[in-house]
Amino acid sequence: MSIVFLNDSFVPMEEAKISPMDRGFLFGDGIYEVIPSYEGMLVGFAPHIERMNNGLREIGIDFAWPVEKWREVCENLIEKNGRGNLGIYLHVSRGTDSKRFHAYPEGVAPTVFAFAFDIPAAPVADKTLAKGYKVSTTRDLRWERCHIKSTALLGNVMHFQHGFERGANETLLFNANNELTEASACNAYIVKDGVVATPPLDNQILPGITRFILLDILRKNGSIKVEERIITMDEVFAADEVWVTSSSKEIAPVVEIDGKKVGNGEVGDVWQAAQTLYSAGKHNY
Ligand code: PLP
Repeated sequence: MSIVFLNDSFVPMEEAKISPMDRGFLFGDGIYEVIPSYEGMLVGFAPHIERMNNGLREIGIDFAWPVEKWREVCENLIEKNGRGNLGIYLHVSRGTDSKRFHAYPEGVAPTVFAFAFDIPAAPVADKTLAKGYKVSTTRDLRWERCHIKSTALLGNVMHFQHGFERGANETLLFNANNELTEASACNAYIVKDGVVATPPLDNQILPGITRFILLDILRKNGSIKVEERIITMDEVFAADEVWVTSSSKEIAPVVEIDGKKVGNGEVGDVWQAAQTLYSAGKHNY
C-alpha cells in the first residue's frame, strides 16, 4: 500500500483527501516537481527544490519550506515505499478557498501533497540494450509560460495524447516559426556531426533538471560539444541522433519521428557516450 504525505502527515493513499474547493483542483493553481531516486539516492534534489521555489514565487504562492524539510519528506517517502526506483512527486497548490473566484485569495494555507511512484530502472549506457523511442510531432499550442512547472498540464496532456494515439512514446513540439521547443513531458536535443544542440532556456520550455545536469556534465567533461541554440524542425529531421530527457527516463534516444528513421534508425554512439557520462556523474547533483 502506498504511503503519501498530505499537509504534514504520512497516510495511506486511500485516506488522503482534499477538498473539491482546492484551487489545485478547480484551476490547476499550483506547482509540482518530480525528483528521481534510485536505491534510496535522490538525483538533483537541490536544483529540483530551487525550481519549485522559483515557480511558487512566480505565481505568488507564499510558501517556502526549508530545503531540509523537503528532504525529510522525500526520505520518509522513500523509506515508507521501498527503496527501489522511485519518482518523488511534490505538489503545492494555492490551497482550499470557500468560493470559486479567480483572484489569489488572502489567508489561505497552501495544500502540500507528495507521493512516490515506480519509475523504470536507470538506463544502462549500452546502445544495443537501449530502448529506442518513437515520437510524433505537432505544433506547440501551450501557453507562453512553459518555464513554470505548473500543475495545469492540460496542454501537455493533449500533446502527449497526440503521440500516444499514433503509437508514439512522446510528441516533439515546434513553435510558429517551425522551431523545436521541447516534448510534451521532456526536453529535446539533436546531435549533428558529433555536436549536441538543445533549444535555449526561455518561456517556451521547462528548465529541465535532467537537461541542467546533462549539459553541466558534458561541458565539464569536454569530450562532446554542446550548444544551446534555436533548432529548426528541418534540422531535427536531418539530425544524426535525437534525444529527449526527463527525470524519470534520463536520456532517451529517439529512433523514429513521424514514422521516419532518425539517422540510420539505430541508437547512436553519442547517446551512449553521453549516457555513460550521465550515469557516472548524476549522483553529484
Ligand atoms: N519539459 C516538460 C514539459 C516536462 O514536463 C518535463 C518533466 O516533467 C521536462 C521538460 C523535463 O524536466 P526534468 O528533467 O526536470 O524532469
